[in-house]
Amino acid sequence: MDRKKQFVAGNWKMNGSLAENRELLNELMELVKDADAEVVVFPPAIYIQQVASITEGSNIKVGVQNVSAEAKGAFTGEISLAMVEDFGCRYVLIGHSERRTLYGETDADVAKKMKAVVDAGLIPVICVGETLEERESGRTEAVIKQQLTSVIDAIGIDAFKEAIIAYEPVWAIGTGKTATPEEAESVHNFILCTLKSYDDKISNLVRVVYGGSVNASNVESLFAQENIDGALVGGASLKAKEFAKIVLA
Ligand code: PEP
Repeated sequence: MDRKKQFVAGNWKMNGSLAENRELLNELMELVKDADAEVVVFPPAIYIQQVASITEGSNIKVGVQNVSAEAKGAFTGEISLAMVEDFGCRYVLIGHSERRTLYGETDADVAKKMKAVVDAGLIPVICVGETLEERESGRTEAVIKQQLTSVIDAIGIDAFKEAIIAYEPVWAIGTGKTATPEEAESVHNFILCTLKSYDDKISNLVRVVYGGSVNASNVESLFAQENIDGALVGGASLKAKEFAKIVLA
C-alpha cells in the first residue's frame, strides 16, 4: 500500500497572543508553503478567527483544541461545533491527555465528542496514550485498547473513517522524553491491528500520528517508521523554524 499522506499538527495549548501568533504564522506560512504534508495548527479557541484569517489561502489549516458535545444552551465556558464551523475549522482535537488528566474527561466523554464531531462532518484527531506507571507495569497495550474500544463500541467503527489517531504517551508530553521510534512503531502497529479487528478497510484509511516531545532532531527517525503517519507537536510548534523542519521531514 502507498504511504498515507503525512499529517503534522501543532497544538499551541494555552500559548500565544495576537502579536506572537501573527509573527509565528507569517514565518511558518513561508517556510511550509511547498510542504507535501497536511499541516494544521490548533490555537486557543479565542484566536481561531485571527489564525483563520491570517492563514486564508495558505496550506495551513486550523483546528480547535476542545469542543462541547452539546449543540447549544446553558454550558458556561464551552464552545459548540457549530461555532467552530462558523470560523472555518475542520479539525477537532479530542481526548488530549491534558483534558483527560486535568479536566477529568472520561472515555465516555471522548466517545460523545467524537460522535458529535463526526456527525458534524468534521475531522476528529483523537488522542490515546499510557502513563509512565502503566507502561512500566506492562499495561501499555491494554490501556490503548481500552481507550480505543470504548469509543468504537459506543459509537461504531465507521466513526474512524476520516479520523486521525494521535498516539501520545503521557510520559513523553512536554517532558523532553520521546518514545524510541521502535516503541512508537510497536504501539502504532497495535492501534492498526485493533482497528483491523473491527474493519480492515478503515484500518487502511486511518492515519496514526505520534506525539510526545517531537522536535527537529528526533523527527526523521520517527517518520522513518512504516506506521508513523505524522506528528502532533506541542512545544516545538511554537517555533516557526523548528515546526517547519518537522513538517518538511
Ligand atoms: C502535545 O501537546 O500534544 C504534545 C505532544 O506536546 P509536546 O510536543 O510539547 O510534548
